[in-house]
Amino acid sequence: MHLKILVTAGDGIGPEVTNEAVSVLKEVANIGGHTLELDAKRIGGIAITTDGTPLPVDTLAAALDSDAVLLGAVGGNEFNSLPPDKRPEAGLLQIRSALGGFANLRPAFAFKELAVNSPLRPEIIDGADILFVRELLGGLYFGQPREWNKATNEAWNTMRYTKAEVVRVARIAFQLAQKRRKKLCSVDKANVLEVSQLWRAAVIEVAAEFPDVALEHQYVDAMAMHIMNRPKDFDVVLTENLFGDILSDEAGVITGSLGMLPSATIGGKVNLYEPIHGSAPDIAGKGLANPLGAILTGALILRHSAGLEAEAAAIETSVRKVLEQGFRTPDLARTNPQGFTVLSTTEMGAKVRETVKTMLVNA
Ligand code: NAD
Repeated sequence: MHLKILVTAGDGIGPEVTNEAVSVLKEVANIGGHTLELDAKRIGGIAITTDGTPLPVDTLAAALDSDAVLLGAVGGNEFNSLPPDKRPEAGLLQIRSALGGFANLRPAFAFKELAVNSPLRPEIIDGADILFVRELLGGLYFGQPREWNKATNEAWNTMRYTKAEVVRVARIAFQLAQKRRKKLCSVDKANVLEVSQLWRAAVIEVAAEFPDVALEHQYVDAMAMHIMNRPKDFDVVLTENLFGDILSDEAGVITGSLGMLPSATIGGKVNLYEPIHGSAPDIAGKGLANPLGAILTGALILRHSAGLEAEAAAIETSVRKVLEQGFRTPDLARTNPQGFTVLSTTEMGAKVRETVKTMLVNA
C-alpha cells in the first residue's frame, strides 16, 4: 500500500503533536511493508508570517494532490487583532471547504484509565464508544438567506437541506455502523422543524439499504440528556451540522481531555484529519502537549484513507496500553501527578511507537 500524506502542522503545539503522529505512522507502515510519501506545507499563522496568507497556493495544490491531509492546529495570540478573513483560522476554513468533505467523524470514547478526568461517574462512561457523523457543509451554518439587518434590528439564518445532502451523509453513517455495532441513532428536531422532517424521511429511506443496521431517532434536546445519562447505549450518531457541533463537544467530556480526541472529515476530494484541540499557545514549545489525539488521528488516516483496519486498531490499542501502564502527559496527570509517570510530548510518542511495534511484530 502506498499513501501520500500532506502534513500541515500549523502553529503552536501543531508541529509537536503531528511529529509524533507521523513517527507512529512511519513505524506502522515500515512494519507492514507499506510506503508513506510524506510532504509538509505551511498553514495558519506560520503561513501568514512567511507567505502573507493563511493558506498558500502551494499548500492547497499539494493538499489536493494527496491521499490524505494531516493537520495539526492553527492560531496564535499575535494574530488575534487581524480581521477574521486574514487570521490563521481562515486557512483552516478554506482548506476544509476546498477539500469538500461533508461527513465529519468525531469519535468520543472512554478510556478506563482516564475516567477520573471526566466529570461523569466512571460507571456511566466505562465502555462508552460513540462515533459522531456530523454533516459539515449544509444546515444553519451555510443556508441562505442569512443576514443581520441593522436598520431593522432583525437577523436571520436558514437551516436548509436538500434530500441529496442528507442521503449522502446518511449512507456514510450507515456504512460506518455496519463496521461497528450496527446501531445508528439519527438526531433531529422533527417535532418542530420541517427541515428535520425531511432529514428523518431521507434517513428512513436510506435505512432500507442497510437492513442489518438498527435505526433509532432522537430529538436533539433529548439526545443532549441521553449522552450524559447513558452514553453506552449509542454507537454511530448521525446529526446535521449545528446539532453535531454542539453534541460532539458535549460528548468530549466522556473522554475527559481535549488532547485525546481525533477527527476526520471524509466524503470530499481528499480526506482531512485533525485532532480536535487548538494550537494551545500557553504550552507550545515546552514539551507539555499531549500527542495522543494526533496519534489517534493518524489511526483514522489508516482506517478511512488506507483501509488498514488492523493497523488502525493496533495504534488505538497501543494508546490504551500506554495509559494502562501509568504513563501520562501533564494534562492527563493533573488529578494525581504522583501516581503516574509523567512524560513529555516526545517521550509519549516514543512509548506509543514502541508499544505498537511490539504488538505488530508479534501479531
Ligand atoms: P486550545 O484547544 O488550543 O486550548 C484549550 C486548553 O486546552 C489550553 O489550556 C491548552 O493548553 C489545552 N490543550 C489543548 N490541546 C492540548 C494538548 N494536545 N495537550 C495538552 N493540553 C492541551 O483552544 P484555545 O485556547 O481556545 O485556542 C488557542 C488557539 O487555537 C486559538 O488561536 C484558536 O483560534 C485556535 N484553535 C484552532 C483549532 C484548530 O486548528 N482546529 C481549534 C480550536 C482552536
